[in-house]
Amino acid sequence: MKKHNFYAGPSILSQYTIDNCVDAIRNFAGTGLSILEISHRSKEFTAVMDEAEALFKELLDIPAGYRVIFLGGGASTQFCMVPMNMLKTKAAYLDTGTWANKAIKEAKLFGEVNVVGSSKEDNYTYIPKGYEIPTDVDYFHITTNNTIYGTEIREDYDVPVRMIADMSSDIFSRPVDVSKYDIIYGGAQKNIAPAGVTFIVIKEDVLGRMEGVRTIPTMLNYKTHVEKSSMFNTPPVFPVYAALQTLKWYKELGGVKELQRIDEEKAAVLYDAIDSSKMFVGTVKPEDRSIMNVCFVMKPEYKELEKDFLDFATSKGIVGIKGHRSVGGFRASLYNALPLESVKVLVDAMKEFENK
Ligand SMILES: *Cc1c(COP(=O)(O)O)cnc(C)c1O
Repeated sequence: MKKHNFYAGPSILSQYTIDNCVDAIRNFAGTGLSILEISHRSKEFTAVMDEAEALFKELLDIPAGYRVIFLGGGASTQFCMVPMNMLKTKAAYLDTGTWANKAIKEAKLFGEVNVVGSSKEDNYTYIPKGYEIPTDVDYFHITTNNTIYGTEIREDYDVPVRMIADMSSDIFSRPVDVSKYDIIYGGAQKNIAPAGVTFIVIKEDVLGRMEGVRTIPTMLNYKTHVEKSSMFNTPPVFPVYAALQTLKWYKELGGVKELQRIDEEKAAVLYDAIDSSKMFVGTVKPEDRSIMNVCFVMKPEYKELEKDFLDFATSKGIVGIKGHRSVGGFRASLYNALPLESVKVLVDAMKEFENK
C-alpha cells in the first residue's frame, strides 16, 4: 500500500531526491564508484559541495557577504557553537519550546542569557509577543518553527541587535530576508536531506568575533569551516549529495515562493478540516499556527478514541501522525516533499472516522 509519510524528522524526501541518490549509490557522476565510497576530495564531490552552496544561496536569495556551510553534529551542536562563537557577555533568547530551551541551556555555558519572552505557562501554544530586547545583548536567538508544538514565526523580525535563527523545520517554506540574520542554521533532516548534515548560513563579518575573548576549539569555530568551504575535515558526503538533489528539485518546482504557495495550501486543507470537525481540535493559537507541523487532539469528550484513530489512520497507509509526548494527540508534518494528495488522504480519514 502507498504510505503517506507525516513523520516529523527524519521525514519525507522527494522521489527525485531518492531516485538520484539510488543512482549515485550505484555509480556516482560516471566515476564507476558509489557516492558512499568516493573521496570527499575528488573533483566530482567538490563540485557537489560547491553547487550545494551556490544553489542554497540562489534559492534563498542570500545576499553577498554570506556563506553557507554544511557540517555534522545536528542542529543541537549549533546550540553550543552559536554562543561559543557569538556570545561575549549577554544574549537574548525567545523561549518557544523544547528546542529553544536546549539552545538556552547551552548559551548559559558562555554568558548571561536573557529570556525575553516565553509561552511556557500555556504549554507553548503561541509565540510570545510584545517583549523588549535589550540593545546591549550580543544577539537575539529565535526558533522560527517549533516542530514539537506546531507554532511558527513566519516573518523576519526587525530587531535592534544581531539576530540568529534555528530554522531546522521550516527552511525553504517561505522566502526569508537573510540580511536580517547573522546566522541561520538547522538540521537538514526535516526539509532537505536524510539525517547527518547541518546547514549554516553565516554572515562573513561575524567570523573571528571571539578573538581575544575566548579560545574556540578548531572544529567548533565557524571560521575553520568557512575558510575550507566545509572541507576542513570529512563532511557528511552522502547527505550533502542528497541535499543537493532536493535543492535541484526545489528549483525545478519554481523556487521558494512556489514552495510557500504549495505549503500554505496543504496546511489550509488540514486546518480547515480540524476547524470544521466536531471531534478534533487544534492545539495552537490560530495566528501562530505552523504550516509545517500541524498539532491537533481529540476534544475531551472523544479523548479515549485517540488510539482508535491512530490505528484507523495506519490502516489507510498514514504513518507518523502520533503527537509528541509533550503535546499528545496528533502531529502531521507537512514538509515540502509531502504531496497534497497525502493531506487529502488524512483529511478523508478524519472525516470517515468521525462519521463512524
Ligand atoms: C529537529 C530539530 C532540532 C534538532 O536537530 P538535531 O539535528 O537532531 O540536533 C533542533 N531544532 C529544531 C527546531 C528541530 O526541529
